[in-house]
Amino acid sequence: MKRNTVLKLSGVERHYGQGETLLSILRGADFTLNSGEIVALVAPSGTGKSTLLHVAGLLEHPDSGEVAINGHICDNLPDDKRTAIRRSEIGFVYQFHHLLPEFSALENIMMPQMISGLSNKEAKERASQLLDYMRIGHRGAHRPGELSGGEQQRVAIARAVANAPSLLLADEPTGNLDPETASYVFDALEALVRQSGLAALIATHNHELAGRMDRRVTIADGKIVDF
Ligand code: ADP
Ligand code: MG
Repeated sequence: MKRNTVLKLSGVERHYGQGETLLSILRGADFTLNSGEIVALVAPSGTGKSTLLHVAGLLEHPDSGEVAINGHICDNLPDDKRTAIRRSEIGFVYQFHHLLPEFSALENIMMPQMISGLSNKEAKERASQLLDYMRIGHRGAHRPGELSGGEQQRVAIARAVANAPSLLLADEPTGNLDPETASYVFDALEALVRQSGLAALIATHNHELAGRMDRRVTIADGKIVDF
């Protein structure tokens, strides 16, 4: 499979607060993520994992530095363009699934596709395939409240990739699951990434899962370093 750079951060700075209470979270962070690659982001709470994922996912602007998605620098684009890139190129998974409680698993996965203009039929077909792929094809008609934590996270992952993004960003996606379930959910995520060739950056505190990823990075002194 041809590898290309999906995410490139160059000299990213992110500070919170003002004056004497300035909190410098990212201080010249550089990072490159290629297609087909799964990278673990392992760092203690409060070091800036979520901040980094939000900047990479175009949810926050860096205070300085550059964020490039598939070779396009996104920092000076108008908000509607950033939103369009986020919708088509980036999938997000959070620690808590954030599925819509009133809709079935299948409908939750159809939603982003309908927003992108796919027909009901097309969206349903792809949503069903993704559910099968995540090994929960039999749970499509159930609402999130009727699913286990592991099943909910698998639906959330399927929804994140429903529009075939090139980048998957996950913020402690198994942080709320027991180790065995976490391992099972990660298996499904990994299979999906390997099959689709997307690039994934996954924040986790789980060293066993981190050990199964292609690379491990941490945040030290506001920079991203391999470890
Ligand atoms: P992590 O995900 O690694 O736990 P975060 O990126 O959430 O870390 O936060 C890093 C630091 O930045 C924390 O000290 C947090 O309190 C602070 N922080 C995060 N977001 C904001 C914000 N919007 N305003 C002020 N401080 C923030
Ligand atoms: Mg966090």
